[in-house]
Amino acid sequence: MPSGNDLPWHALDVSVVVEQLKTDISVGLSSNEALSRLASVGKNQLPVGQKASFFLRLRKQLVQPLILVLLAAAIVTGALGAWADSSVIFGVVILNSLLGLFQEQKAASALAALSRVLVTEVTVLREGRPNRLSAEVLVPGDIVLLNSGDKTPADLRLVSITELQISEAALTGESLPVFKNLDVLKTEVLLPERTNMAYAGTLVTKGQATGIVVATGPLTQTGQISDLLTGVTKLSTPLTLKLERFSRCLLIVILMIALLSFFIGVLRGESWVDMFMASVALAVGAIPEGLPAVISITLAIGVSRMAKQRAIIRNLAAVETLGSVTVICSDKTGTLTENRMTIQQLWVNGLNYEVSGSGYSKSGQIQHAGDIATIQQNLRELIVAGVLCNDAALEHADDAWSVVGDPTEAALLVLAHKAKIDVDTLRQTFPRKAALPFDAERKAMATLHDVEGAHVVYVKGAWEVLIKRCAMQLDERGEVIALDEQATKVAQLMAKKGLRVLALARSEVIDNQSLHDRHISGSLVLLGLVGMIDPPRKHVGASIQACRDAGIVVKMITGDHPATARAIALQLGLADDDAQVVSGHDLVNMSEDQVKAVVVASHIFARITPSQKLDIVRALQSHGEIVAMTGDGVNDAPALRQAEIGVAMGLSGTEVAKEASDMVLTDDNFATIETAIRQGRNIFDNLVKFIAWTIPTNAGEGLVILTAVLFGSLLPITPLQILWINMTTAILLGSTLAFEPGEHSVMHRPPRNPKASILNRFLLQQTLLVSILMLIAAFGLFEWAWQSGRSLEEARTLAANAFVMIEIGYLFSARSLNHTLRIKHLFANRWLWTGCCLMVAMQLGFTYCSVLNHTFSTAPLRMLDWVAIVGAALISLLIVKLMKWRHFRANVTMQ
Ligand code: ATP
Repeated sequence: MPSGNDLPWHALDVSVVVEQLKTDISVGLSSNEALSRLASVGKNQLPVGQKASFFLRLRKQLVQPLILVLLAAAIVTGALGAWADSSVIFGVVILNSLLGLFQEQKAASALAALSRVLVTEVTVLREGRPNRLSAEVLVPGDIVLLNSGDKTPADLRLVSITELQISEAALTGESLPVFKNLDVLKTEVLLPERTNMAYAGTLVTKGQATGIVVATGPLTQTGQISDLLTGVTKLSTPLTLKLERFSRCLLIVILMIALLSFFIGVLRGESWVDMFMASVALAVGAIPEGLPAVISITLAIGVSRMAKQRAIIRNLAAVETLGSVTVICSDKTGTLTENRMTIQQLWVNGLNYEVSGSGYSKSGQIQHAGDIATIQQNLRELIVAGVLCNDAALEHADDAWSVVGDPTEAALLVLAHKAKIDVDTLRQTFPRKAALPFDAERKAMATLHDVEGAHVVYVKGAWEVLIKRCAMQLDERGEVIALDEQATKVAQLMAKKGLRVLALARSEVIDNQSLHDRHISGSLVLLGLVGMIDPPRKHVGASIQACRDAGIVVKMITGDHPATARAIALQLGLADDDAQVVSGHDLVNMSEDQVKAVVVASHIFARITPSQKLDIVRALQSHGEIVAMTGDGVNDAPALRQAEIGVAMGLSGTEVAKEASDMVLTDDNFATIETAIRQGRNIFDNLVKFIAWTIPTNAGEGLVILTAVLFGSLLPITPLQILWINMTTAILLGSTLAFEPGEHSVMHRPPRNPKASILNRFLLQQTLLVSILMLIAAFGLFEWAWQSGRSLEEARTLAANAFVMIEIGYLFSARSLNHTLRIKHLFANRWLWTGCCLMVAMQLGFTYCSVLNHTFSTAPLRMLDWVAIVGAALISLLIVKLMKWRHFRANVTMQ
């Protein structure tokens, strides 16, 4: 069977395509046939491109500025005859690069794993029924139904289309959507002009279509472009870039200081070999080489954690931005509410009905004035219209009914069951001739059917939109009479209770082939109203409050009616009784300045169209706000891209919205946004903690060497010992900060200003203090041992251990940025304790293991030395604690 590029599919008639691929447009493939084709062609997955080779990646690690400095040092040391030193420096360079490689790989695979969590589902016709299946199981010959917002799952030859437009930017680079048609084309027509085809990876921006799968996976046009997916995940974020720039500047400054100290020493008459080693030590010690790698790994760990909490980050930079969000603009339906619609009230030609039952359970009754209602003709037609103008289905699995399609439409099917009307029979008796799909701008949907010799259009949609288009209604006998005010009053009452209100109407047309907006633009006959309840999600109220405590304003931006929106906002505590609701209609009539003012003052925006969402985001951004905006439809994509954090819905969202987003919620729940912000803040805190912890070590080491050079004394610590300290402590101590669980105060402080420096004034002061404490301790202990006649090796081992012990002590202090650590949180991070224990073991090896003694020029210490080292570390920790305590006490007093 041919597939892929075997045949010029665009140049073949549909009947030939069907014949070639042995399929049937109205039935699709059988499950068995699909399975056997899957076994022979393989899964519909794009090939992951060639990863950069091991050596290429190693080279990338080696050409970093610090590594180059180290390599130069190793070569010069070797040339000077210090072979042992030279080979250790070489060894460390290689080890460091391998480690960097490993960390980068780990971070990249953590991110790659996330992309696999988001499976694309498609509607496929198999055995005559539409099924929602994972796009991976598609095979040539499958019949796929595309809808606005879908991502084309494979290469398709189009069979039928309704207003179809596809964005092919991913494939051809063309930014404007392409209008599709069904004309058979010449063989030589080029890819961008093949208008009767839909290619894998392109996005349906408008309309609907049916297509035959002609190629899957690597055989698709996208699969053929091998460099589209290189398998490389982007790991840089604004913070890592900032730090890389900072490291580069620091490198230049430090190299200059190192050079200067070299000349000062040589001019003073010191041996230039010693001075060279001192300069290398200064450079190695003072440059924070591990920073960017640890930042990437911390971000990657954080992102994996967020995925477990149902927030999938699509853009690593979003993790940092999350902590700065000042406003969340949230949809209502499905995000703040459950999107489990249950019809509770009906209004049909002047009569009110109550409907019992909950959720999608079919048990319940339609009642009138307390009694079971008779399903009279008008009520029946309302229900029939709701079933026919409807794309949803109810499926029975595990003793419960679940929805395939839109919950609003599913509620209408449940209503039919409660009225004992059989949905399948109805749909078979009055098949659909044409349709106008629901659209958030149109706020209505219509379908055309042949009913008793007439071409009847059934319409359902937002009540005030539809009532405006109705000129008539039905009386008790089913006669058409002029529309009165009652429907509007009833709808307003229902909406005020928080019900979602839909109007249903009908009209008749002459042509039974197609439907256009003009067919539903006036003189409709109102059939009645349905009011459905959509309960607020559990825990959302608490999440809104948590956001408020964290200085984040939550706004509801909904397509629903203002009265419904207001009622739900009140139930959720999102607004108070006298809250102002701004409608899409109000916004249209406002000047740009008025819009800017109202977006700040109001928290509820109703009957908002997707294009107005974009205006709202821009207006908020003009005030300097950092906006997170949710969305699910195709037209939400511009607003999602414009917002600093575009949040798409994983369950109900379209592929177009997901592609435009920075974060996808796999449970569509507002509470997950709050969790993600909390996590984002934690991750950023952990990065700051690592930076605040690591800089003093580098500064301390640099200061020790500089002081020794300036005072012409012996180096208290050698370049190799510095390399040892930096490498072991960064891995065993520093990286454990990535596992810090987060401080309880994280959602009790305002959002982080993205322009603020990473280390605030207090942290800078603390960094300076710790650096000086390290200088004093290391120098003091070195001099004490040296002056009391101990060997140089012993004195240096003492200094090196002092550095490490102070780092361990300071690690505990760095665990909390905003207060002093509480005893109950002392054991919250077991990685940190494991790291500390391993670090102590490493230092014992460094001090007592003869191989390491030999390699690093160290010597065993006495008991009293350890007392002095631990004493120095404890005193340092005490001083830092005192400084912190004073700072926070002063802050509390000021508040
Ligand atoms: P949100 O923007 O918070 O998700 P929403 O679901 O009400 O709210 P839209 O999907 O834009 O927003 O719907 C707007 C209105 O259109 C709804 O309030 C409802 O009256 C009507 N509507 C929703 N779904 C359908 C549908 N399937 N068919 C006809 N009308 C619908």
